[in-house]
Amino acid sequence: MTEVVTRFAPSPTGYLHIGGARTALFNWLFARGRGGKFLLRIEDTDLARSTPEATAAILKGMDWLGLDHDGEVVSQAAGAERHREVALALLEKGAAYKCFSTQEEIEAFREAARAEKRSTLFQSPWRDADSATHPDAPYAIRLKTPQDGETVIDDQVQGKVTIRNDQLDDMILLRSDGTPVYMLAVVVDDHDMGVTHVIRGDDHLNNAARQMGIYIAMGWDLPVYAHIPLIHGPDGKKMSKRHGATGVEDYQTLGYPAAGMRNYLARLGWSHGDDEFFTDDQAKEWFNLEGIGKSPARFDFKKLDNICGQHIAAAEDAALLQELEEFRAAKGEDALTVSQRDGLSRGMYCLKERAKNFPELLEKAHFVMTERPIEVEEKAAKHLDPVSRGILDTLTPHLQNASWSREELEAVMNRFAEDQGTKFGKLAGPLRAALAGRAATPSVFDMMLVLGREESLARINAAGGAD
Ligand code: GLU
Repeated sequence: MTEVVTRFAPSPTGYLHIGGARTALFNWLFARGRGGKFLLRIEDTDLARSTPEATAAILKGMDWLGLDHDGEVVSQAAGAERHREVALALLEKGAAYKCFSTQEEIEAFREAARAEKRSTLFQSPWRDADSATHPDAPYAIRLKTPQDGETVIDDQVQGKVTIRNDQLDDMILLRSDGTPVYMLAVVVDDHDMGVTHVIRGDDHLNNAARQMGIYIAMGWDLPVYAHIPLIHGPDGKKMSKRHGATGVEDYQTLGYPAAGMRNYLARLGWSHGDDEFFTDDQAKEWFNLEGIGKSPARFDFKKLDNICGQHIAAAEDAALLQELEEFRAAKGEDALTVSQRDGLSRGMYCLKERAKNFPELLEKAHFVMTERPIEVEEKAAKHLDPVSRGILDTLTPHLQNASWSREELEAVMNRFAEDQGTKFGKLAGPLRAALAGRAATPSVFDMMLVLGREESLARINAAGGAD
């Protein structure tokens, strides 16, 4: 069996759209699950619209998502000479011809066709002209598309799509200024790169019929086509900024973990039974073209949160810490101090539970991110009235002698509450305020365990100290 080769071929005209990222992911999963290659080609032939910044943004987005590609990044524009060579080869074979029609003549043809209510597809008078009649004038090279019969795209997602050949014009391959057209470049590049499977957005389905004409004329093997439906917003309309973030980098800045994003994007238009949460290895093993749906997937922000939360909870502590640091760096925030990093490491086991994204995790981590003197927010300050502060003072000696384990701390605290004629719940508010300066925090025991005896007591003492 031949090796599977897929590619992602973005046009560098903006940022990496969530739809493009999903296309890249599908190609990556398909290749990686089959021991194949995943290639990256930047389709930069439209020089007026392509920018190096857009290419950089695409590469950055792919990098963040962890979609590694094989080999060098291919620039389509750099292959112009080769594209031209194929146009000339087609001319040589008689599968293409020189068309001397000027822009004005083509316009006049269309005008007349409109008036006579005929098809406006241009029919060049040069298609079968004797070369002896060729003028000494600039010409375009056009593909000689069969005039009858039909082209059938055997699409793995859309099924068999039939297009009558008389609905396809003789497309230009090489413009009269000698520049190759994009449609030719795509086919030549895919062929030369050995691409076996073309998985891309279904906005390219019509292009496939015309591109097939070039493969057939060159006698090249056709790739397997899979045209995937677009992504819609929750309201069923084409996904746009109106619905929320559409750029991959926006999701990075919002603090979604890359693994969760991959999982969610894989589920967007593809399914494997009822599986919602899965690992990369599972996705690579399971991903197939049969599981891609025919109708547009709807972006569901709640589901994204849910899946990302599960990935954060399931992540290895050390890997999570590294991702958090990268997240902060991407947002231009200060690097973590040694003590913050230590605190996060020690606390990760409880911080990663029930956080849908990194800002939520860091919010819970406030107690290890901050240091003495603890700034107490307004909502928490009311828990530090003189009575509560007195209670904290009385508690300190009990904690001083406790062994610093969850069981012992729970026992000491419950006994102390009982002695005070109250419940532990009543102590929680003042302790949260003392340890974190906040009203909403992880559990008091988790904070004390993570901070350790010395730091916990120092914070409780500082908050106590009844006037
Ligand atoms: N460059 C095209 C795009 O960004 C993709 C072409 C293809 O996948 O064949 O939409």
